[in-house]
Amino acid sequence: APLPSHRPIQALPDQLISQIAAGEVVERPSAVVKELLENALDAGATAITVRLEEGGVKRIAITDNGRGIAPEQLPLALARHATSKIASLTDLENVATLGFRGEALASIAAVAAVSVTSRTADAPHAWELVGSHLGTVAPSSGAHGTTIDVQDLYFNTPARRKFLKSEQTEYGHCAEVVRRIALARPDVSFSLTHNGRTIDHWNVSEMAKRSAHILGSEFAEARLPIDETAGPLRLHGFAGLPTASKARADGQFFYVNGRYVRDKLLVHAVRAAYQDVLHGDRFPSYVLGLDLDPALVDVNVHPSKIEVRFRDGRAVHQFVFHAVQRALSQTSATAYGSVP
Ligand code: ADP
Ligand code: MG
Repeated sequence: APLPSHRPIQALPDQLISQIAAGEVVERPSAVVKELLENALDAGATAITVRLEEGGVKRIAITDNGRGIAPEQLPLALARHATSKIASLTDLENVATLGFRGEALASIAAVAAVSVTSRTADAPHAWELVGSHLGTVAPSSGAHGTTIDVQDLYFNTPARRKFLKSEQTEYGHCAEVVRRIALARPDVSFSLTHNGRTIDHWNVSEMAKRSAHILGSEFAEARLPIDETAGPLRLHGFAGLPTASKARADGQFFYVNGRYVRDKLLVHAVRAAYQDVLHGDRFPSYVLGLDLDPALVDVNVHPSKIEVRFRDGRAVHQFVFHAVQRALSQTSATAYGSVP
């Protein structure tokens, strides 16, 4: 058979490079929602609104009250590999922000119509940048903070557009991302609307309401607080009692340094702690956060993957296992009346 191509090696046009890079980061509308929410949190926002239209495909507009972007920096926000979050390899090894690659906004702008409106604390008014880092920055109206408005996702990449599922499915993924983040950040208010309808609205510190809504009322009523520290590791949050367990693993929320993860090692450690109190076909519900020195965990695995790598996985596993097991054993003792 002939070789697939007789073409010489050629550098790809910039536009195509951006679209290929975008594919890594912007797999579907919910990936845009995740990136924009992480940026809002990194900017110190305490109030975030998410407006979706048609499952996020038509529009994703996220407004925050964070520190904003100065007008002369707006083009850089949309430029590839430009970030305010790290400047060196040392910074990368100690990264404490959710973002650090400086490619999300550029990737989104490569496959959608984007506008960024922002006003810093000391600015008399907002400024807006439309299109890409090559667009012009013009005065605009708006409160302190930032709005990123993303419209017509994949309008210029029809092959990708074809892979989108139904509006309801894409919407569901977007809502899931908002809820994951809202569960981890009771210090921030969130509101979510879809096609003009308010779906979720949570004020600051409404954790019981958030967890009841997201994990069900059983969890809200039957959850054990955990807060344990051992050396550089701290585990905090809530482990659901067996009565709050589920037939599916959809009530499991684990965060590492505030970042939602689905990590085999952590899932296994928690599951093992439930060994004696839960039937094999049930899944525990929990909202747990592991905090540790950023130098002890590598979050630089893949832009859209929710995986991390621990420097000492064994120690993390043992710590999480014992902390959850201790919490569970204390209450079963209380429940049977053996502890006053
Ligand atoms: P990263 O988050 O990895 O730095 P992004 O492409 O997501 O890369 O964002 C680029 C830069 O734009 C950020 O480093 C930040 O300085 C700025 N930025 C993006 N979104 C916001 C926001 N909502 N508020 C303030 N600054 C923002
Ligand atoms: Mg980012």
